[in-house]
Amino acid sequence: MKRYFFTVIFLGIQIGCFSQNAATDYFNKIRNNEAELTAFFSQMPKGGDLHHHFSGSIYAEPMLQYAIDSNFYLNIQTLQVLRTKPANDDNWKRFSDINADGQLEGYKDKILEKWSVKNYNNVDYPSYKLFFESFEKFEAVAKERISQEMLELKQRAITENISYLETQFLYIPLAIHSNAGYNERLRYLAASKNEKELFKTLDTLFQEYTAKGIQQTALDFNKNVVEKLHDSLHIDDSLFTMRYLNFVLRFMEPVTIFRDLTASFLSAENSKLAVGVNIVAPEHGETSMKDYHLHMLLFKYLHQRFPHVKYTMHAGELAMGMVLPEELAWHINAAVFEAGAKRIGHGVDLAFEKEPYKLLHYMAANNIAVEINLVSNQFILHVKEDKHPCIAY
Ligand SMILES: [Zn+2]
Repeated sequence: MKRYFFTVIFLGIQIGCFSQNAATDYFNKIRNNEAELTAFFSQMPKGGDLHHHFSGSIYAEPMLQYAIDSNFYLNIQTLQVLRTKPANDDNWKRFSDINADGQLEGYKDKILEKWSVKNYNNVDYPSYKLFFESFEKFEAVAKERISQEMLELKQRAITENISYLETQFLYIPLAIHSNAGYNERLRYLAASKNEKELFKTLDTLFQEYTAKGIQQTALDFNKNVVEKLHDSLHIDDSLFTMRYLNFVLRFMEPVTIFRDLTASFLSAENSKLAVGVNIVAPEHGETSMKDYHLHMLLFKYLHQRFPHVKYTMHAGELAMGMVLPEELAWHINAAVFEAGAKRIGHGVDLAFEKEPYKLLHYMAANNIAVEINLVSNQFILHVKEDKHPCIAY
């Protein structure tokens, strides 16, 4: 889904042999010419991309080719692919059969349009749905070719003069479970602002997950997945560095998020390559909205247990009309003041937040960076130009 979701935070822009004034003069001269700006920024060393979703950054074309070469099944209704088809479902066809029927070329276009923003016309389908629904369609392919994808991302970054990627990498697989009865208790304690009892309950859950071996799972993930891939592929070199963020999915039930968050913190605490933790998935989703405050408290709790682990949080990726207006007023505030986020992802609803200037001054004074995602925000939220709080930041 990378195609136009590219995000860069410019870290210490180096202009090479230009003096700063000459670069500024030249930039002012071309600032209204998109083609010249593109040429300028293509050549400019950009430092690092700090808001990078691994599976969302792979182009659809090589994934589709892999699915065809591996003769995956295609769901001809949803355009999802799988290596093994579900039983008793006539919607799944093998690519070899589609090809034998002379239909492959027609499907290729349709698939690329569902797996990426190719040819999107802003009319036929909501853009946020197209975006968020795409991941499931190609997931079965993406997870089989992680090595190639890491190398593809590295090579493209170098070509684009990006020397650092901090990618939200892989979901840590966990076979540990707890009693679902905790879900309502955690929600109740968060809603009644009973932080003391909430943290006590989290202590119990933390001990339960510890007894079930969560630390070993996190360490195994670091060693057998992240380090193994990173080292064997020689990802870091003189031109390029890649680091990894663990992440949790905000639509999951509370006991599951807490489990995943605990594993993510344990992994980051014990790794030189995993540099932090994030929380992802649509912020406006029903469960994400309902549990947002609880999620802040989960981060706050784990920060007390793991004070050295850093975390950046998707917060305020919301726009007027998407959720109730009062819901626009507090997500960034809560991520900064309650959860203690070290960075904020998106932060688009800033102007609607309670006391936005107090928030801005606090972020500035405490070096809390915001990862701005202009093109993503235009596509998914329809927030662009001076509606976007980029300049306010
Ligand atoms: Zn993101």
